[in-house]
Formats: sequence, structure tokens, C-alpha cells
Amino acid sequence: MHLDLPILDQAAPSVAAQPVAENGKKVYVETYGCQMNVNDSEIVLGVLNAEGYIPADGPDDADVILLNTCAIRDNAERKIHERLSHLKHTKKSNSDLVVGVLGCMAERLRTKLLDTQLVDLVVGPDEYRRVPELVAEAMGGDRGIAVKLSRVETYDDIVPLRTEGISAWISIMRGCDKFCTFCVVPFTRGRERSRPLTSVVDEAKQLWDQGFKEITLLGQNVNSYRDDVAGYDFADLLASTARAVPNMRIRYTTSHPQDMSDKLIDTMAEWDNICKYIHLPVQSGSNRILELMNRTYTVEHYLGRIRRIKQAMPTCAMSTDIIAGFCTETEDDHQRTLDVMREVRYEGAYMFAYSPRENTKAWKMGDDVPDDVKNRRLNEIIALQNSISREINLAEAQSGIIHPVLVEGPSKRNDAEWKGRTDTNKTVIFTHDGTRGYIVGDTVQVKIDRANSATLFGELV
Ligand code: SAM
Ligand code: SF4
Repeated sequence: MHLDLPILDQAAPSVAAQPVAENGKKVYVETYGCQMNVNDSEIVLGVLNAEGYIPADGPDDADVILLNTCAIRDNAERKIHERLSHLKHTKKSNSDLVVGVLGCMAERLRTKLLDTQLVDLVVGPDEYRRVPELVAEAMGGDRGIAVKLSRVETYDDIVPLRTEGISAWISIMRGCDKFCTFCVVPFTRGRERSRPLTSVVDEAKQLWDQGFKEITLLGQNVNSYRDDVAGYDFADLLASTARAVPNMRIRYTTSHPQDMSDKLIDTMAEWDNICKYIHLPVQSGSNRILELMNRTYTVEHYLGRIRRIKQAMPTCAMSTDIIAGFCTETEDDHQRTLDVMREVRYEGAYMFAYSPRENTKAWKMGDDVPDDVKNRRLNEIIALQNSISREINLAEAQSGIIHPVLVEGPSKRNDAEWKGRTDTNKTVIFTHDGTRGYIVGDTVQVKIDRANSATLFGELV
């Protein structure tokens, strides 16, 4: 059944798993960090909803507040500590309030979080099935912890409780086996494991039937996906999904340069409904640093993959992740990163200062690039990326390119303007005179006439 999407209205909420029986308790999940966490929060809400809990409108309205946390960088963890000290005050005025910490920080800090006397439950990424039991215990006055990592858990039988209208996340795998030396993910999310192909394709079909128009296949490393029982790889999964939901936009993130196969590139090129956008983190433009990071590819291999992608899909947009100031990084290494950026000309990038994480290999290498140097290099990387993004977007405006845009709803600033996204993952703001009969979730043609580094602006064609 398709959702009856209202004309000129906000995105409609998705059809959710219905609770067995409401228990009257309201739960609010605050999500920090990556898209995997966004989908994990939907999974946790799905698990709780099946036990009768209902989503609260906000933290003030909730009996249970769960923080789904990120441990990737120190500042991500600092944010959670600040939020927890704020919740201490809330709990003083409402002693029945249950507070839980979920996700990567739960896995990393474990019982240390219970020592704060504020947190009632601590649950790691592979133990979300136990959240209802631990919440119930907390309501009875007990504190609980569940942080075992699993080699098999993929939650593929759980119906996530989605709140977005037209775009949905689907986790196709969990964990990571790459062990980049700077990264906590293999420790906080455990070993890599994939869902069966059929379960992912079935979920995509159900989402289409519920009215969703776009899905993003998620994993720390989607292109090392393997359905070992049936013998399928990620390219097979993409092709099967594209075939099963031919009118749905299909995206994926994140991919690793080492696993960016010709087969995957050709599969993307073959299917019109697979978006021509790839997030391919490079991290550094120096082979010496890439080796220290254990990224398992060279700059030459990476650039070869980019050339292959552009050969097969000349309009494919690229984005990346870059770390500034990794251990021992010299000025020359930094210049090489800027060189790669100039050569690839990414449409966008996530750029970070290196943050040492306990227990990783790089932790022992020392953090020897001074903060002022790290920040200066990061600022140079950001400035270069902004200027490249602006140039690419202005060129699109000058040529008056027409993009198919998936309509998401009114823009935040102006009701007469609407926003949507291109297949290449760019936000487009376009004027809307109220007379055209399109709805949220439709794809419209927009001619681009203005742009800045982050957004394209245009008129409906
Ligand atoms: N699996 C993805 C990959 O390998 O490209 C990335 C996952 S990670 C959640 C997202 C990004 O965070 C990484 O690509 C990296 O740029 C950044 N990151 C991870 N650990 C970091 C650290 N210790 N300091 C700074 N940035 C870090
Ligand atoms: Fe972390 Fe590397 Fe795995 Fe990405 S591939 S999650 S950066 S260990």
C-alpha cells in the first residue's frame, strides 16, 4: 500500500511496526554520529515498540531517554558527557526518568558509565534486543549493562521504526574487519557480518510498498558485503535491489577504495535507479601516511579507481573523508593530500583533525602533530574543498543544467521555496508557485540558475 502523501505538505511519517499493546511509557532516542546510528536508533525503537513503548515527541515528554552515542573522535564523546550532565538536572526534578547510553560509547566505556549514578542502562551495538528487559529493570530500580559483541547479529528480522517520510536507511552489514590504525569501529562494533541478500531486497520492496522513494544501503564498508551462503557480493546485492524496486532511488555508503571493483562500478553504470554518487574516503594523499593508517591502498590505486568510475559514469559525483594531522604527518604529506583533492575535484568532503583513540594501533604511535599545525592544515583542506565545491556548483548554474530532483518538502527559510536532492546528492532549492500538482516524493525537473558551495538553486521546468 502506498502512503497517501499530502499535496504541499511535510513528508508523511512512515508506516511503523504496531505495538503488541501500548504500555503507556514513552521513549525518546537521541542519535549522535553516523547514519548507521540513525538506523540503529530506528531498530531500537522497533524493538521497544514491539514491547508496547511509544515514541515520545521530545525529551521533556519521555519516561525513558536513550542516547545513541558515537566514539569515533574525542569531541563526539565530549558532546555526550555534556548532554549527560544536563540530564542530571532533569533527573533531579523527575527521579522516575530512565536514562540509557547505547552504541559505540557504551561499548567503549562500559561500567564507567554506570559509575556516574545517572545512567541506568548501558547497551552496546549488538545487544539492542535486550533494551526492553533492561529498561524494565531500570524502572524497578536496577542498573543494567549489556555490551557483548556478536559475530552473527544483524537484526534482519527487526522492523525499524522509521520517522522519515520518503528516504529510508537499510543496514546491510555490521562491524568492520579493516582495522585502520586510527579507528575505534572494529573495537566498538565488532567483526564484519552481512545480512542475507534476500532479506535486504525484501526490506527494500516493503519500503517501496509503504511509500518510500529512496533507500540508502548502509555499512562501515558496504563494498566488502558478502552473502557467503548464497555466494553474492555487493554488486550482486545492488543489482538485485535495483531490479526489485526499479522506480526507487538507491544509494549506498560507505565504500572502501580497496573493494571498489570493476564489477561494482559497471553495475552502478548499468542501472538508472542507482544514484551516480560515490562516497570514497581517501583519508590522506600520502602513501607513507596511508601505510601508517593501514588503509591497504596507495594513492595511485585510489586515483586509478576514480578514473575507472569517471570512464563508466562521467557525471558521477564523488565525495570523501580526510584526516588532517595524523601521526608523523609532514608538510609534504599534507601538500599531497591537497594535490589529490585538486586532481579528483570532490563535490563534497567530511574533513577531520586526527583524534587519538585509546586501544587503537595509532594510539601507541603518539600524537605528534601540534594542535595549531593540525588545525591550520584542516582549515586549508576545508578552504580548498569549499572553493572546489563552489566552482563545480557555479559551473552547473552557468550551463543551466537540468537535474531530476526528488522533492523533500518546503525549504526551512521560505515557504514559497521547496527543497529536494539530485541523484548526485546535492541539495536543490527551487521556487514553487503553488499551482503545480506535485507532491513530496515526486521527482521533478529543475533548471539550475544559481549556486553556492553547498546548495544549488533553480526553477521548475
Ligand atoms: N568505514 C568508513 C571508511 O573507512 O571510509 C568510515 C567510517 S568512520 C565512522 C568515518 C570517518 O571518520 C573516517 O572515514 C575517518 O575519516 C574519520 N575518523 C575515524 N577515526 C578517526 C579519528 N581517530 N580521528 C579523526 N577522524 C577519524
Ligand atoms: Fe574504521 Fe577503517 Fe573500518 Fe572505516 S574501514 S570503519 S575507518 S576501521
